[in-house]
Amino acid sequence: MFLGFRGTSLCEKAISKQLIEVNTVNFRDFTEDKHNRVDDYPFGGGAGMLLMPQPLFSCFEALETKYAQKRTRNIYMSPAGQTLTQQKAEELSGFEVVNILCGHYEGVDQRVLDHLIDEEISIGDYVLTGGELPAMVLMDCVMRYVPGVLSNDESVSEESFSEGLLEYPQYTRPSSFRGMDVPEVLLSGHHKNIAAWNREEALKKTFERRPDLLEKAELTKQDKKLLSKLKNNLDI
Ligand code: SAM
Repeated sequence: MFLGFRGTSLCEKAISKQLIEVNTVNFRDFTEDKHNRVDDYPFGGGAGMLLMPQPLFSCFEALETKYAQKRTRNIYMSPAGQTLTQQKAEELSGFEVVNILCGHYEGVDQRVLDHLIDEEISIGDYVLTGGELPAMVLMDCVMRYVPGVLSNDESVSEESFSEGLLEYPQYTRPSSFRGMDVPEVLLSGHHKNIAAWNREEALKKTFERRPDLLEKAELTKQDKKLLSKLKNNLDI
């Protein structure tokens, strides 16, 4: 699964420019069980199997030795974790090494989470079969904050969530397509008016789709005026 991810455009470029490394470690290689097992039944019963502590402790100890001098964060991908946000991705990009544990089966022995893991992260309120897809979602999101990964004309700072708002609608050529016209202001070349339009549209979209985001967004007086008009259903 990770081979496919490593080969995708942005990731492949970032790896070849030596901006990031994506390494996979198979914790089965660390098991001391003579049948190579890494999972066992939960004490007290219940469905499914749990990943056992020994292979995971040995695996993380090996990583600790390998990255002893690095600023490291250990993450467990889990539906019971804090939901991933853009802010969290930015914060994690500040670490030199992020070790991501992908669970399987029913999950992981609690002692692993208590002693090896700094935080648990979920990618949403639904359950997947394993932590690999969630780990790739996290890696993709984090690497966009690593300096040099995005080119100059791509910017994380203008994307949805980075300023606490959803992104405004965007258009490309042609300016008229099957009778659908691009808003005049975007063709005007007037940078101040364009910036004002973008801000207004971002506020409108956020108000309509994710009003919860507005509680934390940094809003100007002008923004608040516009939002109060939207709340009162006035034309703007
Ligand atoms: N029994 C667990 C529970 O109810 O929370 C679910 C286990 S799930 C079948 C197997 C693994 O997939 C988890 O250990 C976790 O690593 C990963 N996983 C599943 N859904 C996820 C999500 N929404 N976010 C992050 N990781 C998830």
